[in-house]
Parts: sequence; C-alpha cells; structure tokens
Amino acid sequence: MQLTQRAKQVDRRPMTWLEKIYLWNIVKGMWITLSHLFKRKVTIQYPEQKRTFSKVFRGLQVLNRDEEGRERCTACGLCAVACPAEAITMEAAERQPGEEHLYKEEKYAAKYEINMLRCIFCGYCEEACPKDAIYLSETFAPSNYQRKGFIYKKEDLLIPNPKENPEAYQQALGERREAQAKK
Ligand code: SF4
Ligand code: SF4
Repeated sequence: MQLTQRAKQVDRRPMTWLEKIYLWNIVKGMWITLSHLFKRKVTIQYPEQKRTFSKVFRGLQVLNRDEEGRERCTACGLCAVACPAEAITMEAAERQPGEEHLYKEEKYAAKYEINMLRCIFCGYCEEACPKDAIYLSETFAPSNYQRKGFIYKKEDLLIPNPKENPEAYQQALGERREAQAKK
C-alpha cells in the first residue's frame, strides 16, 4: 500500500562502469556548490552586520523611567503574575523621604530580576504593566557561557537616565521615542 503519491521505485539495476567511479555524481555535487557561490547570501556577518527586525519584534526587556529619570516600576507584581514562564522575581520597598527624585511611586522594586533562560519574549509583562514601567526592546540578550549571565538584574534592565545620559536614553527608546514623548 502506498502512503503517499511521492513514493519512488528503488532502481536495483547493476551499476554501469561510469556510475561505479562516481565521477558524474561528484561533478553534480560540485556544480551545486559552485552555483551557490553566485546566489544572494542568506547569512550575515554578525555582529558587524545587523538585521533590521520586524516592527513587532519583541526582544530584551527594559525597565522604563519617566522624563525626570525616576523609576516607573511600583513593584506591584502584575508582570510576574502574568508571566507564563515564571521568569520574573522582585522585592518591593517603601520610598523614603528624599527619594522622590529616584522613584515615581511610593513603592518601588528594590530588586527586580528576569531569568532570560526562561523568558519566551511573549510580551505579557509589558501588557500587564499599568505603569508603562517595562517594555520589550528591539534587541536581544547576548550569548553567555554562564547560566548566571542570563539572570538580568534591575541594573542591567534599567533604561539610561534621561537627565544624566539623554543620548543613551533616546537610543534605548528606539521606536518608542514618539510614543514616549506623548506620555
Ligand atoms: S516576555 Fe513573557 S516570558 Fe518573558 S518575562 Fe515577560 S511575560 Fe515573562
Ligand atoms: S514592571 Fe509594571 S507590572 Fe511589573 S512590578 Fe513594575 S509596575 Fe508592576
């Protein structure tokens, strides 16, 4: 019984002399290799060359600040609850008098970690956040030889302070620049 229409009868004829020396097959193989030399390359020389990502690409998370450089995250935990991979952990702390220039809300994340080995870059954390405190950027987590290198701490995730380093802040915003300016 045939399972598909693509079944091919095996040729069991004895090989001819020409077939036995495999020369024709080697020439055919070399021809395929040579023909690929002149085709458009599908690979790029990363990291010197970088691909343009799709507009809906979701990469490494960024912890956002407001225009005054204060951390937006209020450690409500909604992103951690929404995360299907359970990749987010955090510890909340109370803002102390005199720290108003550091944290936007009365509560902030003293510790905030994302395990990039668990993260599936689904973007649910961004959608769950009521404070616009986290978003997925247009870059990805670089490779690392150590597992601990994939545990991103708050310092690794925080966007540069717009007051201290406006250029790096704008660069980190990327495509979000216009949307952020309206907020
Ligand atoms: S992108 Fe998805 S998997 Fe990754 S931390 Fe956010 S919610 Fe979790
Ligand atoms: S990032 Fe947003 S959702 Fe997550 S704890 Fe901070 S404020 Fe809450």
